[in-house]
Amino acid sequence: MNNNIEQEFYNLELPEERGPFHIIGDVHGCFEELVELLENLGYQIAFDKDEVKYLVSSPDSGKAVFVGDLVDRGPNSPEVLRLVMDMVEQKVAYCVTGNHDDKLLRMLLGRNVQIRHGLELTKAQLESYDAVFRERVKYFLANLPHHLVLDEGRLVVAHAGLEERLHGRNTKGVRNLCLYGPTTGESDEKGLPVRLDWAADYCGKAIVVYGHTPVHEPIWRNNTINIDTGCVFGGSLTALTYPDHVITTVVSRHTYAESVRPFIRYQQLHPQASPS
Ligand code: MN
Repeated sequence: MNNNIEQEFYNLELPEERGPFHIIGDVHGCFEELVELLENLGYQIAFDKDEVKYLVSSPDSGKAVFVGDLVDRGPNSPEVLRLVMDMVEQKVAYCVTGNHDDKLLRMLLGRNVQIRHGLELTKAQLESYDAVFRERVKYFLANLPHHLVLDEGRLVVAHAGLEERLHGRNTKGVRNLCLYGPTTGESDEKGLPVRLDWAADYCGKAIVVYGHTPVHEPIWRNNTINIDTGCVFGGSLTALTYPDHVITTVVSRHTYAESVRPFIRYQQLHPQASPS
C-alpha cells in the first residue's frame, strides 16, 4: 500500500458556486437514511451493477454539501462513502472532512490510531471490500477540504464550524479547528474534551453551517446553524437547503449507538426564549 498519498490541490473558496445547496449533517454510516433524505430532496439514485457505481442526478441543478463525519458508529459506512464519492465525482456534491473521516484516513495510511468510537465497526465493514475500494477511499479522504467558502463568501461549511476571521484560511491550525472545534484543553468527567461555544460570539456575515455536536433540532444562532441531529444516535438526518433555508429531515430507523454526549436542546442555547 502506498502510505504517502500526495494531496491534490483543492480550493477552499468556490465563489462561483451559488447553489442551490442541500447541506447534509453527520451521516455516520446511516446509509438507508441518507438515501431516503436525498430522494426526499429530489435526487435520483440508480445503481450501475456492472461498474458498482451509484449514478446520481440532482434536482434543479443543485448540489449536496456534506458537513463531514460520513463514517463510524453506523451500520454501513462503506456504502455511504461509495455514494458520496460517486456524487462528488459526478459533480453533484461537495464534502468537507470531519474528525471521524480524518481518523479513518490515518488508519488507512497505517498510522497508529485508537480503533474505537465506532472506527472498529467501519474497519470491520471495510474488510469485505477489496483493496481497490480501500485505496479509492484513502485517496478521496486525503483530498477533502477542511472547509468550504461558497457563494462569494456568503456560505461557509465546516464540520465543527469556524469563526469569521479564519474563513478561507488554509493552515494546520484552521484545519484542526474545522475538524474538532475550539476546546478548553480540559476534559469533563467522562474524559471528553470540553468544547467551547464559538457560535455564541459569532457575528460574521457569512452563514456558517456545521455539525459535530448533536443537537435535538437544528438551531440557528447568530447566522450559524448546527444540523447534526444525531441520526446514528436515534435522532434524525437533517438537510438545510440554501439559499431558501428549508429544513428536511429523515427520522433515524434505529439507535445504532448510544450518544456519548446528551443532545443539546434549543432551550439551553436560547434560555430567554419561551418554550415552543
Ligand atoms: Mn459526528
